[in-house]
Amino acid sequence: EAVMRDMLCEDLGVTFDDIASLGPAKRLLNEAVTLPLLIPEYFTGIREPWKGVLLFGPPGTGKTLLARAVSSMNDVTFFGCSSATLTSKWRGEGEKLVRCLFAMARHYAPSILFFDEVDALVSRRGESGEHEASRRFKSELLTQMDGLRSEEDSSTSRVMVLAATNCPWDLDDALLRRLEKRIYIPLPSEESIRDMLAIHLKDIKCDDSVKLDNLARRMAGFSGADVKLCCRDASMMPLRRLAADKSPSEIQKLKEQLSSTSLTIDDFEM
Ligand code: ATP
Repeated sequence: EAVMRDMLCEDLGVTFDDIASLGPAKRLLNEAVTLPLLIPEYFTGIREPWKGVLLFGPPGTGKTLLARAVSSMNDVTFFGCSSATLTSKWRGEGEKLVRCLFAMARHYAPSILFFDEVDALVSRRGESGEHEASRRFKSELLTQMDGLRSEEDSSTSRVMVLAATNCPWDLDDALLRRLEKRIYIPLPSEESIRDMLAIHLKDIKCDDSVKLDNLARRMAGFSGADVKLCCRDASMMPLRRLAADKSPSEIQKLKEQLSSTSLTIDDFEM
């Protein structure tokens, strides 16, 4: 139970407004995840919700962010399970862990179970060489996912499974079949990068040399994570310039000067 609480994230505080572009993905997620969780009675028969949703695409493009936003905007409980947290915790009891996880998700329904880097959890390399624990983990996961849609109990239909991967081709076939709805999350266009810059720099003073359009052009090919890192780094430059060789007491006195210093285009290093 304590282990599960680790994965239960409260107050994620992310909304679609914090995520630049990705309009089609946001719309698809609304239809595949949000609406079925909010009005499950409508999603029956031919409208039955997908068993699972797979977000795939290059690293750092906002897959995790999207999943968190969907939860936090709709007061849906979010369980974030990455392969690292799960494998460090299962200690050979993968099955039990999965069963607990789904039980918790039902208890806190409506809820989202998000499996990050799902390829590392359930890869196709399996079959022969894989660990017994991970094989049992996989089969229990599949069983639990099937259970979500087959029972009468209405709480089970208010649990959604989302997964993310950078390499969908490495996923186990049986799991891939259950992740029926697939949403591609691409690298950002120049325009999206511009929107991201606007989001990340909204509270940062920049002088006239910082033109978002130009900056975005120079960042072509960056992922969302790259853009964020670059902005973060740039935003530290005034402090680096002013605080170099200063003693702690002098640094304390810099506060005012820091808040009035603007970034220049040269602060962005690419
Ligand atoms: P990975 O595949 O490596 O897990 P991911 O696709 O899940 O990556 P996120 O963790 O969601 O990527 O994004 C990494 C960081 O990049 C986020 O913290 C976020 O700040 C930034 N980011 C990515 N995409 C966007 C976006 N569209 N708008 C704003 N920020 C973004």
